[in-house]
Amino acid sequence: MLNAKGTLYVVATPIGNLQDFSPRAQKILQEVQLIIAEDTRHSRQLLAHFHINTPLQSLHEHNEKQMTQTLLTRLQQGDNLALISDAGTPLISDPGAYFIQSVHAAQLPIVPIPGASALISALSVAGFPADSFVFEGFLPAKAHARQQRLQQLAEETRTLVFYEAPHRILPSLQDMRDNFGAQRPALLARELTKVFETIQRLPLGELLEWLKSEKQLGEFVIVVAGAPAVEKLLTPEVERIFTLLYQELPLKQAAKLTSEITGVSKNVLYDWGIQLNQATQQE
Ligand code: SAM
Repeated sequence: MLNAKGTLYVVATPIGNLQDFSPRAQKILQEVQLIIAEDTRHSRQLLAHFHINTPLQSLHEHNEKQMTQTLLTRLQQGDNLALISDAGTPLISDPGAYFIQSVHAAQLPIVPIPGASALISALSVAGFPADSFVFEGFLPAKAHARQQRLQQLAEETRTLVFYEAPHRILPSLQDMRDNFGAQRPALLARELTKVFETIQRLPLGELLEWLKSEKQLGEFVIVVAGAPAVEKLLTPEVERIFTLLYQELPLKQAAKLTSEITGVSKNVLYDWGIQLNQATQQE
């Protein structure tokens, strides 16, 4: 008789508060033959707390390709496996995409066991439109690349969500303020579901000042309101200031100064200046 194929369960674990570990997730992790974890030492502690003694295998970015064939063979032989990450939902800024693609390619069954994720938790309390949003994950670590990425996002009208590490939270927030404007509404969610959970919703400029006066410890999600549609930004007052400055200064400087005075992103103003130039040349 042919063996039935095994199933891969992709299981969310808590992002801090252990009570967020669903009974279904715990039951699946008890029942599978093998749990595939990012860091086995880290996950063993969580599993021990719930008296789950299933064997563990590590899968991280350095061994994912090499381990995938072994894991596929086990599924083909009928073993049920579960994939977890250090915290939250696997694959959300976590490894596993190559393995899961291979599971699909091998036409093996795969089942999600949903639960906590920091991005959804932060969005749910941010109060910015979330019917459509952009999850950017971690920004580039190097300052120049980070600023370039933020510049590209400055005119995005959908809500933006970022993850950030404690040692980069201040420079990242500063770059967001510089590229999106000090007035742009934002929310910082720190240590979600944990003892020192902090939710602070302020314009980017004030949020940065607030964070400077705090300890920059813990895990962070930053949610930033999307850019207002350009027509709404360019009020008669903004137009007046920009036009006056642009008569006296190069475009880049006029856009920068207008941005500092009005809070409208310098990229929006710069693009607008270019459009004005093009329109004048066509006349
Ligand atoms: N897979 C996870 C998820 O579903 O949210 C994310 C993993 S990613 C490697 C880790 C990052 O997620 C942290 O640096 C932080 O930005 C965010 N994060 C995770 N747990 C968090 C928490 N309790 N509070 C705030 N941010 C958290």
